Amino acid sequence: MPELPEVETIVRDLEHRLKNKKLTGIKSLDKKVFRLTAAEAKKIIGQPVRSVERRAKMIIINLGRDNLLIHLKMTGQLVYKSKAAIIAGGHPIKLERQDLPNKFTRVIFKFSDQSALYFNDVRRFAWVKLASAAELASLKGKLGAEPLGSDFTLDYLKKVLARKRKTTIKQALIDQKFISGIGNIYADESLFAARIKPMRRAGSLEPNEVKKLWQAIPKILRLAIKHRGTSFSDYVDARGQAGNFIKYLKVYGRAGQPCQGCAGLVKKIKLGGRGTHWCDECQK
Ligand SMILES: [Zn+2]
Repeated sequence: MPELPEVETIVRDLEHRLKNKKLTGIKSLDKKVFRLTAAEAKKIIGQPVRSVERRAKMIIINLGRDNLLIHLKMTGQLVYKSKAAIIAGGHPIKLERQDLPNKFTRVIFKFSDQSALYFNDVRRFAWVKLASAAELASLKGKLGAEPLGSDFTLDYLKKVLARKRKTTIKQALIDQKFISGIGNIYADESLFAARIKPMRRAGSLEPNEVKKLWQAIPKILRLAIKHRGTSFSDYVDARGQAGNFIKYLKVYGRAGQPCQGCAGLVKKIKLGGRGTHWCDECQK
């Protein structure tokens, strides 16, 4: 599942490609994924793209009055195709130029310069919705704080941990109601960076540990964005490149391998059903 850095990478790549292009057509191939009514879809044809943004793991294509909201969920993939380029972001569905549209294509957006954005999804949990500016503002208000935003203060993190004091710190970090966009990879990496064991109760953290964690989260996310996210297997981002952050992972996906901080081995257990990685020596 793409987390904040992977979604941010797609958004940054699509923003300059889609900006100012007029939406000239929409082809819906799956009503479960494409959740606009026929009237809503008709209404947005002809509107130019003002911006492409991210809030939590949601992609927002701003059309001025209305906003297209896209969530990749487990297996969503966006593929932009123009005469000059074919670029993809999101889930690693193997991509060939002749494969568009393919059997996983759920929606096709067409633009004024003959380019198109294909929304593919294998498991069909992904969605496209329409929201007015007011609806979007209300939706944004219900989401947890952006860990790279100004509302993610040390005080905010302290309050989150106080409310989740009996939960493990790993599970507290991935609860989207409180903090947006952190999933398995970046929770494990942030906890390693802050030297905190993931199975500790959130309420057991000392003030200096909370501070270290608060500093580690944005640092890890920014580094991951710089390296275009983490990709496994044949994942490609919106430039058709693999995310390079995999080289920088300290614990995630490294169970049984030597820890980079000590002589021990990286361990793995399931916490709340999620694979969780840590080093028993480096983390307290
Ligand atoms: Zn270690």
